[in-house]
Amino acid sequence: MNANPNEFSNEEITVTFNPRKCINAEKCAKGLPSVFRQAVIPWVKLDAASSEEIINQVRKCPSGALQCYRKSQEVA
Ligand code: SF4
Repeated sequence: MNANPNEFSNEEITVTFNPRKCINAEKCAKGLPSVFRQAVIPWVKLDAASSEEIINQVRKCPSGALQCYRKSQEVA
């Protein structure tokens, strides 16, 4: 079980979320709603899309609240 509620991993990537940076632009929820869900806990569901789709969406986060890492390297 993951000890950090704002860290989400699948076999390829880890997505982190910093709520203090989030400006609630909802770009993530609108762009990839199956992964970045509203009013659901856990709100990030990494097995609902491919890692590439998730990486591309994380890159569009305007605040930097979402970050993505693959094999310990930052990719977004
Ligand atoms: S795209 Fe980034 S800033 Fe916008 S709601 Fe998602 S995490 Fe927050």
